[in-house]
Amino acid sequence: MITPFSVLNRTYDIEAEIAIIGAGPAGTSTSIFLARKGIPHIIFDKDDFPRDKICGDGLSGKVVSVLEEMNPQFLQDLYNMPETFLGSWGVYFAAPNGKGVNIPFRLNGRPIEQPPGFVARRIDFDSFLVKNIESRLANPHFNCPIKSIERNRQGIVLTFLQDGKVKTAFVKVVVGAGGDRCPVKRALTTYRLAPDHYYAGLRTYFKNVGGMQEGNFIELHFLDEVLPGYFWIFPLPGNRANVGIGMLSRDIRAKRVNLREIMFKAIKENPTIRHRFEQAEEIDSVKGWGLPLASQKRPLSGERFVLVGDAGSLIDPFTGEGIGNAMFSAKIAAEVIAEAVEKNDYSAGFLKEYDRQLYDRLWDEINLSYKIQRLVQHRWLFNFVINRLHKNKRLMDTFSLMFNDLDMREKLKSPLFYLRLLFNN
Ligand SMILES: Cc1cc2nc3c(=O)[nH]c(=O)nc-3n(C[C@H](O)[C@H](O)[C@H](O)COP(=O)(O)OP(=O)(O)OC[C@H]3O[C@@H](n4cnc5c(N)ncnc54)[C@H](O)[C@@H]3O)c2cc1C
Repeated sequence: MITPFSVLNRTYDIEAEIAIIGAGPAGTSTSIFLARKGIPHIIFDKDDFPRDKICGDGLSGKVVSVLEEMNPQFLQDLYNMPETFLGSWGVYFAAPNGKGVNIPFRLNGRPIEQPPGFVARRIDFDSFLVKNIESRLANPHFNCPIKSIERNRQGIVLTFLQDGKVKTAFVKVVVGAGGDRCPVKRALTTYRLAPDHYYAGLRTYFKNVGGMQEGNFIELHFLDEVLPGYFWIFPLPGNRANVGIGMLSRDIRAKRVNLREIMFKAIKENPTIRHRFEQAEEIDSVKGWGLPLASQKRPLSGERFVLVGDAGSLIDPFTGEGIGNAMFSAKIAAEVIAEAVEKNDYSAGFLKEYDRQLYDRLWDEINLSYKIQRLVQHRWLFNFVINRLHKNKRLMDTFSLMFNDLDMREKLKSPLFYLRLLFNN
């Protein structure tokens, strides 16, 4: 909505060039990357920190590589806190028939020295990022929910609450980092929830789950009832685990299922899962939240705004990982915004550069994940692949490489890969 001249004769509680709305991984990463360039900004969050975020708590290799780029010391800090950040060395996939394969994370095919991924409660990871914001340049406003966003010719007017009082801020450009229900997305775009491109997820915490994998592998159990979604067990320090389930919204609606019931049925009855929970104790309640998937290409910017992380629907459509893409999108957004500041150009035309750069780097990977997501809906194919891999170590090694190398992963799309599985014993 353009309201000409509404800025005239108005005074604001804060005036700044840039505001970031949301201090999850996308918002804090944008802040840290902007600060590295010496660019001042304000960062808002409706909550104070530490605060929880409903998640599986898996921090993938992409998170690790963006953290390293932000500041190599950050990674050392995580390695030095094993009681909070549990190093994870791979992923275990179980097909609907219950058979599973372990896929160690590798770097260019080589085994690695330090853990390539982590599992850590979001209350801890997000606080870690918040602590690393440079408050000299970032001007954090936490416990300040954004109530409305109005765009006019001169800039953006944000209305927010602080200590029960209504306040306003005037900025030139706004970064929407408010997650799935981001107020920037709601005010400045026409995004609608697309049930084909959206997962619903539930998670809870258990302690004393039995039979956890060596190397703290994260476990994805592809259950018949939720394909292409899955049930997960992600190990946490202190013999705890994040346990959850995700399913496409389209399928939940079509099949009218109760996701919570499916999750507890798996825990109580699934032949490959139930024995793991015999001594386990639930230590939190089940909580749910949405996962906006990247499988539909959407505009990520417009006049005076960019969207990062879940606000831009950037979650991997196969694995459900969103933290890595949230942080990666933040890095690209900060680079484009730095140029926009220099040129004093916050037009839709200029900020479109963010969409271009981000999709140039991520689209192949997203597209491939989407194809794999659709392939695993064929349970017979999934069962078949896992059965064959089980029998042949060499094939298993090739498959393991596929999950660490995009070019190799391309082969999953090729009929030749399946023929090879069929005839290779
Ligand atoms: C059940 C479940 C399991 C998942 N498991 C994983 C996993 O294991 N690994 C993984 O990589 N990803 C996982 N994801 C996805 C991951 O949680 C998200 O992709 C990630 O949190 C995105 O980060 P973000 O910063 O974009 O948004 P968020 O983390 O949602 O942060 C948004 C921030 O904006 C703030 N905010 C919102 N509205 C306002 C407002 N009006 N004013 C001010 N502030 C506001 C919020 O308080 C919040 O701090 C999972 C998601 C779900 C739901």
